[in-house]
Amino acid sequence: MRASRLVCAGCGAEPARDDPFPFACPNAGRGDDVDHVLRRELDLGAVEFPADDGEPNPFVRFRGLMHAYHAAREGGIADEDFVALVRALDERVAAVDGHGFRVTPFAAADGLGAGVWVKDETGNVSGSPTRRRGPTSRSRAAATRRSRPRSSRRRAGGGCASSCRSTRIPR
Ligand SMILES: [Zn+2]
Repeated sequence: MRASRLVCAGCGAEPARDDPFPFACPNAGRGDDVDHVLRRELDLGAVEFPADDGEPNPFVRFRGLMHAYHAAREGGIADEDFVALVRALDERVAAVDGHGFRVTPFAAADGLGAGVWVKDETGNVSGSPTRRRGPTSRSRAAATRRSRPRSSRRRAGGGCASSCRSTRIPR
């Protein structure tokens, strides 16, 4: 089993591994009354949770847990090239938002009650957790394009559908 894969919860189909925009089940839209929703499956035996190495960019620190990273590596992208791609994308975000993505502070909020922890997204890009979903799909698309022969590349419209994709971690 691959460390990370996208699987339709409704029919079990998987998008082609070299599809730079795997945002929908290949069987979606057939009018079969099946809920074709892609979800990610992560093989916890094949990945390792990263130690806190001080890396501030979550897309670099936690790359080993991300589907985009595994797809890129399968496509022949070296680890350092993936990191460079993520940093380049982050710099472009920073040029627009004033700063790039950073690991979100997560701490006990004793003032709110015992055992209450708060994840503070207000310092993140656009002050929202939803913005963090964009770089994963963009880095996957960019990495896939780089790993494919130029003759097989195509331009396709991306969307935010992948942002709505659920993630399933098998037990
Ligand atoms: Zn499906």
